[in-house]
Amino acid sequence: MNRLGVPLVLVLCGLSCSPSLPPRVEFTLGTLCRVSLFEGGTAADYDAVFARFQEIQDVMAPGAAAGGEATDLELVNLNAGIGPVMVHGDLLDVLEEARRYAELSDGAFDPTVGPLVRLWGIGSDNPRVPAADEIEQALALVDWRDLVIDRAAGTAFLRRRGQALDLGAIAKGYAADQAAAILRGGRSRRAVIDLGGNIFALGERAWWKSWRIGVQDPLDERGTYLGILRVKDKSVVTSGVYERYFEEGPRRYHHILSTSDGYPVDNGLVAVTIVAERSIDADALSTACFALGPERGLALVETLPDTEAVFVDRDRNVLLSSGAAKWFTLTGRDYRVIPTSSSSNTR
Ligand code: ADP
Ligand code: MG
Repeated sequence: MNRLGVPLVLVLCGLSCSPSLPPRVEFTLGTLCRVSLFEGGTAADYDAVFARFQEIQDVMAPGAAAGGEATDLELVNLNAGIGPVMVHGDLLDVLEEARRYAELSDGAFDPTVGPLVRLWGIGSDNPRVPAADEIEQALALVDWRDLVIDRAAGTAFLRRRGQALDLGAIAKGYAADQAAAILRGGRSRRAVIDLGGNIFALGERAWWKSWRIGVQDPLDERGTYLGILRVKDKSVVTSGVYERYFEEGPRRYHHILSTSDGYPVDNGLVAVTIVAERSIDADALSTACFALGPERGLALVETLPDTEAVFVDRDRNVLLSSGAAKWFTLTGRDYRVIPTSSSSNTR
């Protein structure tokens, strides 16, 4: 089982983008985070970015913060069905975005998936396949409409006892955006922020040059990629079946759970990569589109400006959104790009 969340997306650089300082790598936000600053980056920039990650982790991780007290997210969960809790503005921001994506995806992405995530324990030391009645009970508690956010009061509330938030599908995107904002405000305008495969490629790789981001081949060894995305100043985020999973008997159980049946999503997809201006959008959408499946997922992406997607299924078919071909080059020999109705459209 892989619980480290080793990067899914490789940043292909070459000599033209060797960093002025070595990258800084730390385990935080539940994953291995690597930040590489190019041109003018200083140790103070690294310090500021990683301090911000710690702050976000201490507010919205499940369980306890670094000091041992409950995170704000945990307090909301403990007070589910009891009463609203005053929380950090970061958490309100992320909850509002999460709610927006829950609505857009018709609940396929749902930040109240906590009871199901706990039940399966995927990514914990004790994952297991729950009994059908346990799944039914947990599933009954998953409903983003029970999340009440009161901006004026600065509170969040889950209406029913036993409900629980889980921001594993969106918090890293928020953190990457916060890091990008810090770096944009400083002198380091070329950087790669990689939070366990959740990438923000800031600025350009070099004058007039795009970053080249390798998309992990989900059916091959880590470090093998099936294609390259050439982007500038964009976030690239992948959700895949191979990132966090466990095996029991002949079956593999991965970490994106269906809010319709309570089991790991089983729709033929093995990975979805999203390219967007903001990492929070790419992160939420990669999970949402994975859960929605190729048809509904692509349809959703087509409604969103400046957002493109690469869907990969277990038969090694690659489906692209209408604007993705301008950035994506297929390199995996066993894969084929399947024309979709959207890729023939001109927008
Ligand atoms: P990663 O954790 O690998 O970055 P994702 O961004 O796809 O991958 O998030 C998956 C995580 O999101 C799971 O580990 C779990 O915490 C949570 N999650 C699982 N299923 C859902 C869902 N249907 N909607 C929202 N969050 C989910
Ligand atoms: Mg995600």
